[in-house]
Amino acid sequence: MKTIEQIAVELQGYDPQALSAGQVNEFLARLVTPVDATEHVSPFGALGRALAEDVISPISVPPHDNSAMDGFAFDGAQLGPDALALDVVGTAYAGKAWQGTVKPGQCVKIMTGAIMPAGLDTVVPLEFVKASAERIEVPTGVVKPGDNRRLLGEDLMAGQPALHRGQTLGPAALGLVASLGLPSVAVYRRVKVAYFSTGDEILSLGEAPREGAVYDSNRYTVFGLLTRLGVEVIDMGVVKDEPAELEAAFRSAAAQADAIITSGGVSMGEADHTKAMMKQLGDVAFWRIAMRPGRPMAVGRIEQAGRSAVLFGLPGNPVAVMVTFLAFVRPALQRLMGATPTEPVLLQAHSGEAMRKKPGRTEYQRGIVTRDADGRLSVRTTGNQGSGVLRSMVEANGLIVLHHGQGNVAPGDLVDVMMFDGAI
Ligand code: AMP
Ligand code: MG
Repeated sequence: MKTIEQIAVELQGYDPQALSAGQVNEFLARLVTPVDATEHVSPFGALGRALAEDVISPISVPPHDNSAMDGFAFDGAQLGPDALALDVVGTAYAGKAWQGTVKPGQCVKIMTGAIMPAGLDTVVPLEFVKASAERIEVPTGVVKPGDNRRLLGEDLMAGQPALHRGQTLGPAALGLVASLGLPSVAVYRRVKVAYFSTGDEILSLGEAPREGAVYDSNRYTVFGLLTRLGVEVIDMGVVKDEPAELEAAFRSAAAQADAIITSGGVSMGEADHTKAMMKQLGDVAFWRIAMRPGRPMAVGRIEQAGRSAVLFGLPGNPVAVMVTFLAFVRPALQRLMGATPTEPVLLQAHSGEAMRKKPGRTEYQRGIVTRDADGRLSVRTTGNQGSGVLRSMVEANGLIVLHHGQGNVAPGDLVDVMMFDGAI
């Protein structure tokens, strides 16, 4: 496990007071390594988990050549310029092989998924033939030799890697695992993440409103983001800006969890105890990131009871919390979960408005992407981009990413958008 200082010397141009978003992710890729424990779970228990080993296919899928259609199977070599008349000599059902032999001039009625009888390579679908019970006529031009036959192993050949370590198992992968006949797969153990909000002005639900105080929203957005990510969450409530309370919270979180997420108390001018306590209990760096929103952030590790938890001290502003989570915490937690982080797929849309942007920092504007009448994608902002305006995250369906080196945007310019999809 590397210390903050060891990582800092590895990175070119590391300046905690001026990090680009890209440098933050490079740093985190070095700080966070996968949990080491793995377990075997059934496909039903594997959704959203990261594979701990490659899955090698023990069988070929499908295990036999079989029919892709309901129809009649025959030897395609007989197809010629004229219609082909064939005698029906039997029926092949899915699930049991048809045992007879088929001579030239003959065919077998066949169901989708049934094994192709020996020597037959072509299926003419039912709807294309003139058929009586004993005889069919295959018109010209409706099939070529080999049509409508699925080949042995065309999905997967025995011995081939079907899935790779670090892959996050989605619905299709669960089905693929099952299609190989595997009752279980090796996945990394579930990651536990503890989170709490800090600040004397933060009210918990149920508390009476009072002047200068706001209700805690960060715990709820963080809960939602973490749950979507598939980690086990440990909600530690709101912690007052008081050394003993903060110390107890950090110690308890580090003793139980693999990662700790806090919000608030990491800005420059903070007169509170959060930063001091992080520093006292852990190996922590305090960063100013060249981005908007989400400039201040603390990152490091807190050791407790022989365990080590990765710490993400997020800013307090509700939008900054979500943006820093998506940009940095999410890929870092994916790594901790054993998953190979996936780059979000950015789509391009035409900006509906001018946007002022200074090169030298990454900006994330809340965007609403729509399709114009002429079919092209457009994006407009949600209006007030204040980092406290949580409503903007609700109204948006994605974040407009104005990259580090990018300057002003004119109406009609193409901009990148990170769509929220399932992440939010
Ligand atoms: P801080 O980073 O502690 O300076 O907080 C920045 C802003 O975010 C302040 O206006 C805080 O009141 C607000 N804030 C901090 N924590 C929360 C929270 N858990 N829920 C809602 N707003 C918060
Ligand atoms: Mg504060």
